[in-house]
Amino acid sequence: MSELLARHRAVMPAWLALNYESPIEITSGGGSRVTDAEGRTYLDFFCGIVTNMLGYDVAEVREAVERQLAKGVVHTSTLYLLRGQVELAEKIARLSGIPDAKVFFTNSGTEANETALLLATCARGTDQVLALRNSYHGRSYGTVAVTGNRGWKNSSLSPLNVHYLHGTDRTAPAFRAMSDREYIEACVADLRDVLVTATAPDVACLIAEPIQGVGGFAMAPDGLLAAYKEVLDEHGILFIADEVQTGWGRTGSSFFGIGDHGVVPDAMTFAKGLGNGFAVGGVVARGDLMDGLTANGVATFGGNPVSMAAANATLDYVLDHDLQANAARRGELIMAGLRPLTELSSVADVRGKGLMFAIEMADPATGAPAPGLAAAVMEGARERGLLVGKGGVHNNVLRMAPPLNLSEEDAREGRDILVDTVTAVDSKVR
Ligand code: PLP
Repeated sequence: MSELLARHRAVMPAWLALNYESPIEITSGGGSRVTDAEGRTYLDFFCGIVTNMLGYDVAEVREAVERQLAKGVVHTSTLYLLRGQVELAEKIARLSGIPDAKVFFTNSGTEANETALLLATCARGTDQVLALRNSYHGRSYGTVAVTGNRGWKNSSLSPLNVHYLHGTDRTAPAFRAMSDREYIEACVADLRDVLVTATAPDVACLIAEPIQGVGGFAMAPDGLLAAYKEVLDEHGILFIADEVQTGWGRTGSSFFGIGDHGVVPDAMTFAKGLGNGFAVGGVVARGDLMDGLTANGVATFGGNPVSMAAANATLDYVLDHDLQANAARRGELIMAGLRPLTELSSVADVRGKGLMFAIEMADPATGAPAPGLAAAVMEGARERGLLVGKGGVHNNVLRMAPPLNLSEEDAREGRDILVDTVTAVDSKVR
């Protein structure tokens, strides 16, 4: 065990999981690559945890942060006007498509979702909320309450009265066998049934990830969330889209994942990639909802000048370089190479949208989820110089979310490593 790993184990929580049997210390980066303390360089197809959406050492972001630091004052307070905050809020409000939108900045996705849940439950005067099975929304008391994944939920204690819907996770065999249309109809019937048989009439909101991140990049058929929205509207129930993993053009087809479903939500939450490594999150919501809170509110470090400089520069870069189109192009190139992997008996599914794609591993004999095979692919890819993520409720899904500015050459290299590694792992278990 390395000296740093031993020290980590001694003072950090055991549940703070590290990737790989022999964890890596990343010490530098450039483009889509990172280098570890031993000098090995890897192509990073998970860009941190979907946090470095432009990759590493991007001049525009670094210089924006340096300019801010050079002013000699990192005056962190929401009690004073901050130009960077207002500018970023204006951009996000416009991009969100939400009418009369207002923005509140936080430091993380968890806080963003907490805020959105607070807006919705206060506006509707109830603690009843709807969430999706297989979801992940954060690690605070309220966000754990709407998380539908026992691997990420320590307790059933809850400040919210949560009712779960089927929704995005379609891994059950009965659901896989359905056409998209049949599946949407079944989910809408389930929602109507939950509203009649499990809730009182005053439900506050549904919170949903357009693509479930931690849940293994589970992808609902386009239109499912619009079908939900129609029913929710009949009851005045608000819609919160958790865009922490799916925002900023990553899916290639819409700027926010919810766009693929044709839904304009009442609130959207964001975090992760927006600061390209700097901590920034937030909520963009209908102005009446945002202004509906009456008590004072503050996130001391939310919207701090350094994060705002990084986030403004990152978002400008995404827009100036039309990275949504790049995500679509590179995603298609990669998926064309990965799709044939479904022929292998240990691959249950290959799915993707833009630069968010996954390979689901199964036991070739039984078809059961195979976390061991996913771990073997992850280790094998690392040996070949590629970092990927892992997830899904059974931990059997390889998750890939490379930087949005991925070059064609890097897309081909990562794709080829994945194909080689999955094929090698499959050949050992057949
Ligand atoms: N929502 C989603 C969809 C996420 O994937 C995450 C983190 O993985 C969160 C919320 C929580 O974000 P954070 O870890 O920044 O608190």
